[in-house]
Amino acid sequence: MYVYEICPYCMDQLYERKQPIDDAVINCCPKCGSKMEYACLGEYKIDDTIYKIILNNVAIPNSGDKKNKFIETLMRVGKFNREEAQKICRTKNTLIFEGNVSETYVNINLLEDFVPDIHYTVNPPFALESLLNPFVSICPICGNRTVTRTEDVNNRSEDIKSGIYCETCKDWIMFDICSKAEVDDTKYYVEVPLEGIDSEVMKKIMHTFDGLCNIFDSACNKRLEEKRIIVQDRAQNIEDLLCTLEYYKIPYKIDPPYPHKIPELNPVYKNKWTEEEVRDLIKANPGLKVTADELNVLG
Ligand SMILES: [Zn+2]
Ligand SMILES: [Zn+2]
Repeated sequence: MYVYEICPYCMDQLYERKQPIDDAVINCCPKCGSKMEYACLGEYKIDDTIYKIILNNVAIPNSGDKKNKFIETLMRVGKFNREEAQKICRTKNTLIFEGNVSETYVNINLLEDFVPDIHYTVNPPFALESLLNPFVSICPICGNRTVTRTEDVNNRSEDIKSGIYCETCKDWIMFDICSKAEVDDTKYYVEVPLEGIDSEVMKKIMHTFDGLCNIFDSACNKRLEEKRIIVQDRAQNIEDLLCTLEYYKIPYKIDPPYPHKIPELNPVYKNKWTEEEVRDLIKANPGLKVTADELNVLG
């Protein structure tokens, strides 16, 4: 896998990061010396492919701030003047840009702000997955570096405000209200003994187990042993597993103790067969002799 960085001030070129993504090394821009930010990653070594961006459709209301911002973005992406950009907004499927992978990456990040009000296509399809939008690492008001910040929300103990903040302007650039579990970076160690578990419940546990551990985070891991499963991951990622274990009352060990509320698994109600459903069932299986009452007894 290749990891690429970009300088948020120069915003002109993707640089391949030589160190692993979770290494603490900070790389600096060879042009201006600023700290670089993670840009994107994927199984794609940058080459000299030329990409095209086609603007398929624009559905932003004709007046107002948003339209203005979009016209300015379009002028920047395609180096158009205002008149040309306005004309492009009114036509469908227009080629708005052609260029190398770095320029394409920057332009995709500019355009993404307007999705789903616009629809665009990249050709060939862009092979790298974007990490945090590098445009938010600089404050648009004062030009200083922003920081990530979390803050308690008054009176709502399970919630937290989390986002990008400018310490110079003392203002949020963007934020979300999310649960504390979502922003908890602690790696919890969970151990579940597998002996004496009903096979249906085991299927459910293994299903959640399979979905665990994301490949971009090498600090998380899981393993299946003969008599137990062991998982080490962030709060948000183990939530599904914990809620399955709690629901079926399966004993497990967790370290450190889990401080968040574990959401309740919605109980699955057994479907009751109706007379009509049974008629359809018999129609689909000629010769079958069964009544709704009989089926409901079977469960
Ligand atoms: Zn730079
Ligand atoms: Zn600022």
